[in-house]
Amino acid sequence: MLGNVIEAKGDSLVLGTAAEGTVRCIAAVTTDLVAEAARRHVTSPTVTAALGRTLTGTLLLASSLKELDRLTVQIVSDGPIGSITAEANTQGQVRGYVRNPDADVPLNEEGKFDVSAVVGNGMFHVIRESGYEMGLYREPYRGSVPITSGEIAEDFAYYLTVSEQIPSAVSLGVLLRAEEEREAFVAAAGGWMIQIMPGADDKTIATIESSLGGTPHTTQMIREGARPADLLRMALADIKFDILEEKSLSFACPCSYERAVSLISSIDRAEIESMLREDHGAVMTCHFCNESYRLNEEALENILNGEMVAEG
Ligand code: ZN
Repeated sequence: MLGNVIEAKGDSLVLGTAAEGTVRCIAAVTTDLVAEAARRHVTSPTVTAALGRTLTGTLLLASSLKELDRLTVQIVSDGPIGSITAEANTQGQVRGYVRNPDADVPLNEEGKFDVSAVVGNGMFHVIRESGYEMGLYREPYRGSVPITSGEIAEDFAYYLTVSEQIPSAVSLGVLLRAEEEREAFVAAAGGWMIQIMPGADDKTIATIESSLGGTPHTTQMIREGARPADLLRMALADIKFDILEEKSLSFACPCSYERAVSLISSIDRAEIESMLREDHGAVMTCHFCNESYRLNEEALENILNGEMVAEG
């Protein structure tokens, strides 16, 4: 099965179609970007698994976006994690965070990270926005379903089936390993999504259902060098598919020092004066990527002076 494995070169996603376009299939390898998210947010092992699965699922779901669109998945729950937010665009970029990165729970009965316990119960929201960067902003599309399992993959499948009426099978995984002097690092991450579109015949559906039952562990395949197309070959077994698109993926956030300055410029003048007087500066931390930007006294004075010029 792994005969066509190409040497792994970072993260990527493939989008394919099968059975005369009645089946959409998407797969991604996300090891590096999940490791980057875990490093930035200093997540506990169970949270790394939950966030990694959500980042991967969001990228798979975002493969249906049109240019200039972006898609946000937000899981708001009563579990220790609090919430998970992930946002992806059509360039294969994703960013995300959780409310409580250090939340953790014991391993489950099978000795695995108990993602559903750290997530708990709540709601699974999807927001599709279009044209946001060109000023062509339209009312976003929103869909919500209750969290069904909290294992994330099942929740993506349930959302697609119930809210978008696209029966889907989804597999998402993060493999964590511990080696000497390194605590739980991300050894492999990725997943796939098979969507049954209107017009699919019963035979195709039955073949897919039977092949999905025997799928080996996605993350183990990735650990052994499988690329996204290999994951699709595994998931679809005997069904032939065509690859329509392939792109590289990354953890990316558009925040910057300039954006931090512009955000501070928009807050109340008296508050900026108090930052200058009491804190001799300001620190802004981006929720999405945990990058901190420090504005010194001079930067704050410039903001205050700039406003005076604008007003005069
Ligand atoms: Zn950021």
